[in-house]
Amino acid sequence: MAVSLRTRVAACATLSACVFLSLASAPEPPKDAAPPAATTPSTAPPRVLVFSKTAGFRHDSIPDGIAAIRELGVVSLAGATPAFEVDATEDAAAFTDANLAKYAAVVFLSTTGNVLDDTQQAAFERFIRSGRGYVGVHAASDTEYEWPWYAKLVGAYFKGHPDIQKATVIVEDRTHPSTSMLPERWERTDEWYFFRDNPRARVKVLARLDETTYNPGPGAMGDHPIAWYHEYDGGRAWYTAGGHTKESFKDELFRGHLRGGILWAMGVVPTAPATTSGQPATNGTPATPTPQEPSAQKPHAQDAPAQKP
Ligand SMILES: [Zn+2]
Repeated sequence: MAVSLRTRVAACATLSACVFLSLASAPEPPKDAAPPAATTPSTAPPRVLVFSKTAGFRHDSIPDGIAAIRELGVVSLAGATPAFEVDATEDAAAFTDANLAKYAAVVFLSTTGNVLDDTQQAAFERFIRSGRGYVGVHAASDTEYEWPWYAKLVGAYFKGHPDIQKATVIVEDRTHPSTSMLPERWERTDEWYFFRDNPRARVKVLARLDETTYNPGPGAMGDHPIAWYHEYDGGRAWYTAGGHTKESFKDELFRGHLRGGILWAMGVVPTAPATTSGQPATNGTPATPTPQEPSAQKPHAQDAPAQKP
């Protein structure tokens, strides 16, 4: 055990290469094998699948989200390039054991409604049980209401939202790779979801909304978690309710938040705060001004699933 671990460490010139080797379950070398020469590994970076099938409301920010995640993967970890590579699909047929085996994590990017059949759901459950990761963005909580396993994975189901507006997010845990770059009070504009119930007892909350800083309408929760993570059924799950607006995916802090969530779900836990798209991490002051009020955006009442088939 000690020998093989040492060999593995020696074989990893970079953090991401190590992660890849671990995820790929590379065969153990013979116990008496000499450590390999310290050459740059030729192995490919780990892959992430972005899934954005919609059976209900469709967010027009989905292409922006896919583009952002592709860009976030390019940012290196410890000198390796890229940190991860991205495939994007709207085809639920991608959810087979053989295909999912290529990925370290799957991102549900504003999926809505019933997007997977029973066979595809079973394949995804096995994927998580194999130690892989799930990332849910925004309407990922407006997805698969009749799949109890998914309910626990995502943590809470969407219930509704007020109009898009500026609010302050209180970052409770700034030690996580997805929050280490954020200020304690993170002011930004988005569509602020409220949920059927409070997931706090089931997940580890990273951030909550300060409901005194915006108009929550009928969706006031008091304690209002808005981003969280947990280890679940052998794998990892991370969720952020942000990401309705196109502007979110150009916001350096939101991008850093999302990148950290993806890396954590993949099983990569940086030892130092993650940078946001190559920018030094900042605390206390947003790296970029809050995006302008998206006057062209219309709040969509049809986001509410209860009224939809
Ligand atoms: Zn939305």
